[in-house]
Amino acid sequence: MNKVIVVGGGAAGMLAALGAARGGAMVTLVERNEKLGKKVYITGKGRCNVTNACDAERFRAHVVKNPRFLFSALNAFSPDDMMELLPSLGCPVMVERGDRVFPQSEKASDVTKALERELVRLHAQILLNTRVSGLAAQTGHILGVTTMEHGFLAGDKVILCTGGQSYPTTGSTGDGYGWLQSLGHTVYPPLPSLIPLTSGADWVKELQGLSLKNVRLTLKNGKKTLYTEIGEMLFTHFGISGPLVLSASAYLAELDSYTLTLDLKPGLTAEQLDARLLRELDASGKKQLKTLLCSLYPARLAELMPALCAIPPETQANEITKEQRARLVQGAKALEIPISGTRPLSEAVITRGGASVREINPATMESKLISGLYVAGELLDVDALTGGFNLQIAFSTGVLAGRAAAE
Ligand SMILES: Cc1cc2nc3c(=O)[nH]c(=O)nc-3n(C[C@H](O)[C@H](O)[C@H](O)COP(=O)(O)OP(=O)(O)OC[C@H]3O[C@@H](n4cnc5c(N)ncnc54)[C@H](O)[C@@H]3O)c2cc1C
Repeated sequence: MNKVIVVGGGAAGMLAALGAARGGAMVTLVERNEKLGKKVYITGKGRCNVTNACDAERFRAHVVKNPRFLFSALNAFSPDDMMELLPSLGCPVMVERGDRVFPQSEKASDVTKALERELVRLHAQILLNTRVSGLAAQTGHILGVTTMEHGFLAGDKVILCTGGQSYPTTGSTGDGYGWLQSLGHTVYPPLPSLIPLTSGADWVKELQGLSLKNVRLTLKNGKKTLYTEIGEMLFTHFGISGPLVLSASAYLAELDSYTLTLDLKPGLTAEQLDARLLRELDASGKKQLKTLLCSLYPARLAELMPALCAIPPETQANEITKEQRARLVQGAKALEIPISGTRPLSEAVITRGGASVREINPATMESKLISGLYVAGELLDVDALTGGFNLQIAFSTGVLAGRAAAE
């Protein structure tokens, strides 16, 4: 019977421990916090969007970095498997808009409780309040881990599930990165992803609190479109946020030059919008432009639009030239939002970067450099969009590592 040590009791660690214990291993799950799954508790605004009820192909389409690495993991433990596992452990689930899956109780804590109950039933040892301080390996083979509270813990296999570096108060402080590097692994720098964006533009800050629905956000690098989607976004005191912005941020990290544009009227072509503007201008006589634009935009945006299109706001409808009308159409269909960067990593939903997947066997999650060492979850250089995909990546890679380590 293999003695398997799982480091980190988050989403990946709980499932790795479960996979190993069900595979017949003697499991010790080591967690630095006073409880398991502290980050799981805050997922999905406390409701935990636990997975996405889609097939493997659609799943991989939502994975931004290294989707192909997940073939075996998603095959070994799919979203369907997660949707069967939770109810079997007393936590029924429901599917919402966008195939997002939540516990029926709408309590993230019920997900962790269900998994913890199963670990206890399987006699996995759970060491809480125990922080691993390093890994011990000799001649390319893992020997165990050192802890601050219990000294050296010997293990035949060690599964690293210490997560990324976002929301560090949940315990994810990036401890795994340094250990992997010291054992020769390549670790890409941790960067924020699924994160609000900052802007230095005064007009963006002036709109703080304004939320826009049914707009299209497009991110481009030169002529290449990296992201384009219709949905919701929000102006804030530092820049922009909301679902569209978080998703777009997943494509930003490694780019040096990009443009972010907003189509405020995605349901109309430029020609249709121009025709509508012409009609309204003709019918509005001496009405000021900013007043007229209130029929197209929320009042605060209507107030700013003339200046953003280089037209004096007091200009009357019957004074608008053809060129100015063209600028109004351009402003509506492709309003550029100047971006200065992202909010800090500590505020990111996930961490981009991490352990290079080239040095991990995708069929087992075992390190190709150190035998007996496995890596799962957000610590890997794999990341996805919102919708339950990131937790499922942690679950799938965790289960696969646990099963392989038990063999
Ligand atoms: C606010 C927020 C909302 C989110 N909502 C969703 C959502 O609804 N759906 C979704 O799919 N994803 C969501 N995510 C992302 C998701 O939570 C993560 O991708 C996922 O938790 C990663 O799992 P993990 O096990 O790899 O890492 P983590 O969950 O971060 O777990 C790592 C664990 O390792 C422990 N640890 C770290 N270092 C040590 C050490 N030295 N010794 C012992 N233990 C250690 C930590 O305490 C922690 O418990 C959200 C993230 C955030 C921040």
